[in-house]
Amino acid sequence: MEFLQPATWPEALAMKAAHPEAVPIAGGTDVMVDINFDRTRPAAIIDLTRVAELEEWGSDNGLLRIGAGVTYTRIIDELSDRLPGLAMASRTVGSPQIRNRGTVGGNLGSASPAGDAHPPLLASDGLVELASTGGSRRLPAREFYTGPKRNAMRGDELIAAFLVEPAKGPQQFSKVGTRNAMVIAVCSFALALDAERRQVGTGIGSAAPTPVSAAEAESFMEGVLDEAGLWETPREVDESALKRFGELVAAAARPIDDVRGTAAYRKHALAVLARRSFSWAWDEYRRTAP
Ligand SMILES: Cc1cc2nc3c(=O)[nH]c(=O)nc-3n(C[C@H](O)[C@H](O)[C@H](O)COP(=O)(O)OP(=O)(O)OC[C@H]3O[C@@H](n4cnc5c(N)ncnc54)[C@H](O)[C@@H]3O)c2cc1C
Repeated sequence: MEFLQPATWPEALAMKAAHPEAVPIAGGTDVMVDINFDRTRPAAIIDLTRVAELEEWGSDNGLLRIGAGVTYTRIIDELSDRLPGLAMASRTVGSPQIRNRGTVGGNLGSASPAGDAHPPLLASDGLVELASTGGSRRLPAREFYTGPKRNAMRGDELIAAFLVEPAKGPQQFSKVGTRNAMVIAVCSFALALDAERRQVGTGIGSAAPTPVSAAEAESFMEGVLDEAGLWETPREVDESALKRFGELVAAAARPIDDVRGTAAYRKHALAVLARRSFSWAWDEYRRTAP
């Protein structure tokens, strides 16, 4: 196995261009498991851990641009105030050891439907920045996931960063698993309220071939909030509207029966998660709205 170790980002991109078959490794918490279990035996590996550019984050035209190599621990420690939904999701990832090594870039690279970073990125309309020696492009997260464990990255590209707007309202993330920690989601749900644009964003994990959002549920709830003037005068949202929101989220999922849960259970659980997440987020909005 060839082991490539770029020290800079341009070097990393040049190596990927020269070896499109090489597997990048960041925290290694997915790659090493696959190698240990003999699921994959790459001819070459590109170790990205020495590329300082991937570990930086900062602002970029009103968005936060977060390097692909920023770990979950750092997202929790450094970005909880600006990205509360992603921080909540990060807290549910694995164990402290996994959160210290694992990165959102790696979650995007694996593109597992169960990856916990995806629903918050979908709910906040995040972008994924892909780069090659030919230049870079930014793709909406909503277009990045193309199939189970497949994404829109080309063979000569690497993930440079993801971009997301600092929260413009309450955010939530909830996950159902068979225990409280170290668990792959049976299903998960993220919600982002944008009080400035009056938008409701959603993301669903582990309940379709890819992470997905629930567009109908979003426009339904936006309609409810607008019609009743609830953004200006935040009162409680009717129980019937909450129930309908949950139903529409469940309807957007295309789950399967597998070892972690049945499709029917996932739909049921998603409706509950969506209803509860909305209620928690709306309660927060009502407490904090100007
Ligand atoms: C015990 C355990 C518990 C876990 N629990 C969870 C959990 O609760 N939730 C969850 O979502 N995941 C979980 N995972 C999976 C894993 O930790 C995450 O998917 C993590 O985000 C992977 O990040 P990484 O940096 O370790 O990726 P790596 O293993 O280094 O890479 C993962 C994939 O991304 C690609 N890649 C990495 N960086 C780049 C880049 N910059 N450009 C292009 N491709 C890149 C790699 O080639 C590979 O295909 C768990 C794993 C373990 C071992």
